[in-house]
Amino acid sequence: MVDKMRFLQILMNLISNAVKFTHSGHITVYGHVLDATNRHSLPAGLPLLDDEWVLIGVKDTGIGIAPEDQRIVFDEFRQVDGSPTREYEGTGLGLAITHKLIEMMNGHIWIESELNRGSTFWLLLPIAKPQHEPAGVEMRPSTKADLLV
Ligand code: ADP
Repeated sequence: MVDKMRFLQILMNLISNAVKFTHSGHITVYGHVLDATNRHSLPAGLPLLDDEWVLIGVKDTGIGIAPEDQRIVFDEFRQVDGSPTREYEGTGLGLAITHKLIEMMNGHIWIESELNRGSTFWLLLPIAKPQHEPAGVEMRPSTKADLLV
C-alpha cells in the first residue's frame, strides 16, 4: 500500500549493499506484520501511531559497521571508508535516498550491526488502511512472509 516503485528501490538498495559487503555466509530478508500485540520487541522510542506496521529486515553476515559509523552511513556521499583507495565502489547516496524515502512514507529505519559479524537494516512502515474497501476484495497484506535470498 506504499509506492511500489519506491518500495522496490529501497529493498534493492539494502539487498545490493548486503551482497556487496558480504564475502561469505548469507543474506536473509524478513517480512513481518506488527500490531499492538507483537511490537514489544522493537527499540524504545519509536513513535508508533497507527495500528499496523510492516517490519522488514535485510540481514547479512558481512563486514559489519562499527557503532561510531552507524550514524554517518545515512548522510549523503558518506561511506565508512571514504578514502580514494577504498575497496568498495559506490556513490554514498543509496542509504541517504533510502532514508529520505522511508521518512516520506512515515516509516523508520535503523541498523543493528557488529564489526566483522554482519549487519541488519530494519525498516518499519505503517500499513495504510484503505478508506473504502471494495466489497469482496481482501486488502490486507499477508501476515508473515520470510524470503531467503
Ligand atoms: P554506497 O553506494 O557507497 O554503497 P550507500 O549510501 O548505499 O552508498 O552506503 C553508504 C555506506 O554504508 C557504504 O559505503 C558502506 O560503508 C556502508 N554500508 C551500507 N550497507 C552496508 C552493509 N550491508 N554492510 C556494511 N557496510 C554497509
